[in-house]
Amino acid sequence: MATKKLVVLGSVNADHILQVESFPRPGETVSGHGYRVVPGGKGANQAVAAGRLGADVSLIACVGDDDFGKRMINAFVKDGVQTGAVTTIPNTPTGIAIIYVDANGENSIGISAEANAHLLPELVEPHLSLLNSAHTLLMQLETPLITVEIMAKAAHLANKVVILNPAPARPLPDSLLANVTIITPNETETEILTGITVKTEEDAHKAANVFHAKGVDKVVITLGAGGAFVSDESGTRIITGFTVSPTDTTAAGDVFNGALATALLENKTMNDAVLFAHAAAAISVTRLGAQPSIPTRKEVEDFFV
Ligand code: ADP
Repeated sequence: MATKKLVVLGSVNADHILQVESFPRPGETVSGHGYRVVPGGKGANQAVAAGRLGADVSLIACVGDDDFGKRMINAFVKDGVQTGAVTTIPNTPTGIAIIYVDANGENSIGISAEANAHLLPELVEPHLSLLNSAHTLLMQLETPLITVEIMAKAAHLANKVVILNPAPARPLPDSLLANVTIITPNETETEILTGITVKTEEDAHKAANVFHAKGVDKVVITLGAGGAFVSDESGTRIITGFTVSPTDTTAAGDVFNGALATALLENKTMNDAVLFAHAAAAISVTRLGAQPSIPTRKEVEDFFV
């Protein structure tokens, strides 16, 4: 079990999921089934993944003063996520995502930040002390960028490990990347951040070098069913994932990130940590929804047997 502490900063969303045969085109209405509202948001998903997998994890986030926000805080506690830095924003809904899942398990997502837009530096400042006792800070890009930049800088200055999952994709200032220890983009995010389309291992290598040149120590490019490309002090390699029948790939990247951080906090090598993350993410893609799909530690350990 992990003893080093993890802080996750990020979003909390209510995911409205509808399963459809194929995604609606502009002007088209399609009939769906299996409508449900489940807990999601990249920050929450990654924190819950870490919590279920045994990490000592705190979440810095905002929820709305609606019923969903209250339910989320209770759910975090059950999943072992410390909620002292989760703020309830008055007169504001919790963030939402509208998610279509098609017959191939692919998803198409629209989001609205709502309470997540309130995760600004002045709100986070009282929780900076959490960083002092933490080993690693894990962040994504569904909350205001200014806060991500300030937190990365503070954590880097304090010699903490900063993991940035640059999702959803957007261009980032070099000053932020200089404070990132490990970046974990998928192929789309890699292309937006480096201008390199990742089709081959050589492309991934070139893209990783763009990140390294900007001061990022370690690069983990996730390749969906293809696994992940890793570039760190040990060199570059592709670490193959696990073959499963996907039901819904929503949150695969989030589970991967939460699991990767958890495993690295347990002093696993990068290769073993990526394999652990692949297993957790592979289990999650066989299930519908974001947080409901996240496996427990036992489920991941049984997966390896
Ligand atoms: P994102 O969900 O952020 O787009 P990826 O699609 O690259 O990221 O997936 C992240 C990780 O989830 C992969 O590295 C892999 O471990 C796992 N994964 C995703 N899709 C599949 C799949 N179809 N089969 C098995 N594992 C998968």
